Amino acid sequence: MNNAIFSFGRPQNEPIQQYLKGSPERAALEQELKKMSSEEIEIPLIIGGKEIKTGNIATVVMPHNHKKVLARYHQAGEKEIEMAIEAALEAKKKWEDMPWIERATITLKAAELLAKKYRYVINAATMLGQSKNIFQAEIDSACEAIDFLRYNAHFASEVYKDQPGTFPGQINKMEYRPLEGFVFSLSPFNFTAIASNLNMIPVLMGNVTLWKPSSTAILSNYYMMKVFKEAGLPDGVINFVPGKGSVLGKVITNHRALAGIHFTGSTATFNTLWKNVAENMEKYIGYPKLVGETGGKDFVFAHNSACPSALATALVAGAFEYQGQKCSAASRAYIPKSIWGDVKKIMLEHIAKIKIGDVQDFDNFMNAVIDEASFDNIMSYINYAKDSKEAEIITGGNGDKSVGYFIEPTIILTTNPHFKSMQEEIFGPVLTVYVYDDNKFEETMEICNTTSPYGLTGAIFCNDKYITLEMFNKLRYAAGNFYINDKPTGAMVGLQPFGGGRASGTNDKAGSYLNLIRWTNPRAIKENFLSPTEIIYPYMK
Ligand code: NAD
Repeated sequence: MNNAIFSFGRPQNEPIQQYLKGSPERAALEQELKKMSSEEIEIPLIIGGKEIKTGNIATVVMPHNHKKVLARYHQAGEKEIEMAIEAALEAKKKWEDMPWIERATITLKAAELLAKKYRYVINAATMLGQSKNIFQAEIDSACEAIDFLRYNAHFASEVYKDQPGTFPGQINKMEYRPLEGFVFSLSPFNFTAIASNLNMIPVLMGNVTLWKPSSTAILSNYYMMKVFKEAGLPDGVINFVPGKGSVLGKVITNHRALAGIHFTGSTATFNTLWKNVAENMEKYIGYPKLVGETGGKDFVFAHNSACPSALATALVAGAFEYQGQKCSAASRAYIPKSIWGDVKKIMLEHIAKIKIGDVQDFDNFMNAVIDEASFDNIMSYINYAKDSKEAEIITGGNGDKSVGYFIEPTIILTTNPHFKSMQEEIFGPVLTVYVYDDNKFEETMEICNTTSPYGLTGAIFCNDKYITLEMFNKLRYAAGNFYINDKPTGAMVGLQPFGGGRASGTNDKAGSYLNLIRWTNPRAIKENFLSPTEIIYPYMK
């Protein structure tokens, strides 16, 4: 009988491996890249632990070399979704009764497998399938995924430990039940760690999921699913169902047992799902919990006390790492005229050093954007700026999709703070800069606060404490992750819990206990030791 009262302490974040020339980790990774890029695997659905092949095939290609097929994967249709829901609900019967410590040991074992046995597999798959350089893959598919798994065991300890008060003659308890039904987890292409976490949090709290991975992140997500299985995850607890989002979404939001949606992706998709749920409200057992982390139009706002060199470095790294395809990427900047000359000069010096190309060439700082639709969309913003009288492209502006979907790091300088690329999420290597008169600091800050519908990340650069406080207060709702003298990307699990408000999502903070609570349906229990036998109060006698 497992009657240990156990609490998982706060873990240390996973150290980032450096992959220096001649290091054993670099050799191991290169070997894995070679193997994976020379094979073409078949990826089935995994429903109730069984591999299902539908014959409805789509391909996984390298975005930086799109003729190269890495895998062919089977897509789920309505029939398979019904099967997956049934398998999940069947698995739920045993899974929700499993002591949470045992569930946590599965997430912790998955973390160990990723840290040691499969680190290079998951990094190579993320590099090749999602076009990340080694550093970007290491901080995502290895470190962040491992951190989520380890920290979540700790956060679960904190949640379960939180119990109601006592009173003489009674005992009170809180049972953190999972949700009544299944959870639909929909993951984006840009972070393997997020895809893992969208499933593993609900599962840790006793839920079962249907996981629809992004069609442009299938390779790494499939290997992740295999890691979960090797870590001991029972059949049917997570059901891996790649397929067309719109088809799957419709069937799932129409199901009576839909208990929650754990989503990360674009605002438009989350809004569609929310509307689908609203239309089906009467059908459900309960109110589905909708947790979505969505788009961003992340700002960097500088005061004239900012250090130009720190600001320029943060802008280049924040805007162009992973080709700007981070929800947190710096995509609009407000710079005072007095320091703009220096900032521009240093930015251009940094950008001149950036090489773009294949992920297997470790000299490349940037790789390809994810697919053709994304390439065309990003180029349409660049071309719009080229044609506008209110904008000028000061570096970059070219793209080439003949071999891979490559776009140069591009800076648009605009005279209009409401210019299209200052307001809309582009999700590519494009930064738009608005230079303001130093004496228009307050009103420009107001423009920054109200220009875009989003509220995800934002950074201020300032070396005056009073002004920093003023900016901090004025921009209170402009960002859920707020940075002072740092780039707006690179949030770490447990250190900068992640999520934003406004059109950027429900702000349920992945990387903290706040997210775990959403996957519970708490039951308060009171047991009375001496039940009353009289209804007349003493004062009535
Ligand atoms: P996306 O919205 O296109 O796709 C997300 C997932 O939803 C995918 O699995 C996709 O197949 C699925 N989907 C698409 N249409 C659907 C529909 N009609 N019904 C059901 N499912 C559907 O997003 P993406 O391109 O994969 O990711 C980029 C977006 O994600 C950006 O907007 C970015 O800002 C956002 N993002 C946000 C965060 C955050 O924490 N806030 C993190 C990463 C990415």
